[in-house]
Amino acid sequence: MQGFILKITRAKNEDIIVNILTKKHLYTLYRFYGARHSILNLGYKIDFEIEYSTKAYLPRLRNITHLGYNWLFESQRVILWQQFIQRFFEHLKDLYELEEFYFDILNESAAIWGEQNPKRVAIEKYTTILKKEGRLHRDLNCFICHQKIEKNLSLARGFLPSHSECIHSDILPQKGIEYLFEENSTLFLEDIYVDKLWNIIMQGF
Ligand SMILES: [Zn+2]
Repeated sequence: MQGFILKITRAKNEDIIVNILTKKHLYTLYRFYGARHSILNLGYKIDFEIEYSTKAYLPRLRNITHLGYNWLFESQRVILWQQFIQRFFEHLKDLYELEEFYFDILNESAAIWGEQNPKRVAIEKYTTILKKEGRLHRDLNCFICHQKIEKNLSLARGFLPSHSECIHSDILPQKGIEYLFEENSTLFLEDIYVDKLWNIIMQGF
């Protein structure tokens, strides 16, 4: 089956514990060290098998094939990808069974990560996740003072709408945010605002 590596944790003797997101699950698997084994990195998409054993504490990860992307040679894109991946893991880490859209969205993101500004991809896909989870607030009421936001729109963690004066944060262009929330597109947001939205995502999903 196929999955994305969301976390790698060192175990004893250079073995590793790997968390892998597939269409249906977030697996925690054990990988024994082997000199001839290919190196696994955070964010890689792999094809793999799971070996279950009644004796072992964790199932084993085996028969791994790395499914590469050409942008993996561009370090800046890889760094952003790994940061995005880490937020995925923090968000999903307590779950075992998952809805398929998490894998699908990550898969779609990876496919275009090399062609577009990765931060724009992340923002648009994150907005899609919020919609799927039913927690995107398109009504633009301030979550602090509960008033309708007519001006000075700002967004808190989780893209929660608020007045900039209510959360002491930067003002964002309302038309561009409304378009993002409706169409999942950053088309009407300049790069400076794309950076600000990326930083909000980095606070956590
Ligand atoms: Zn307010």
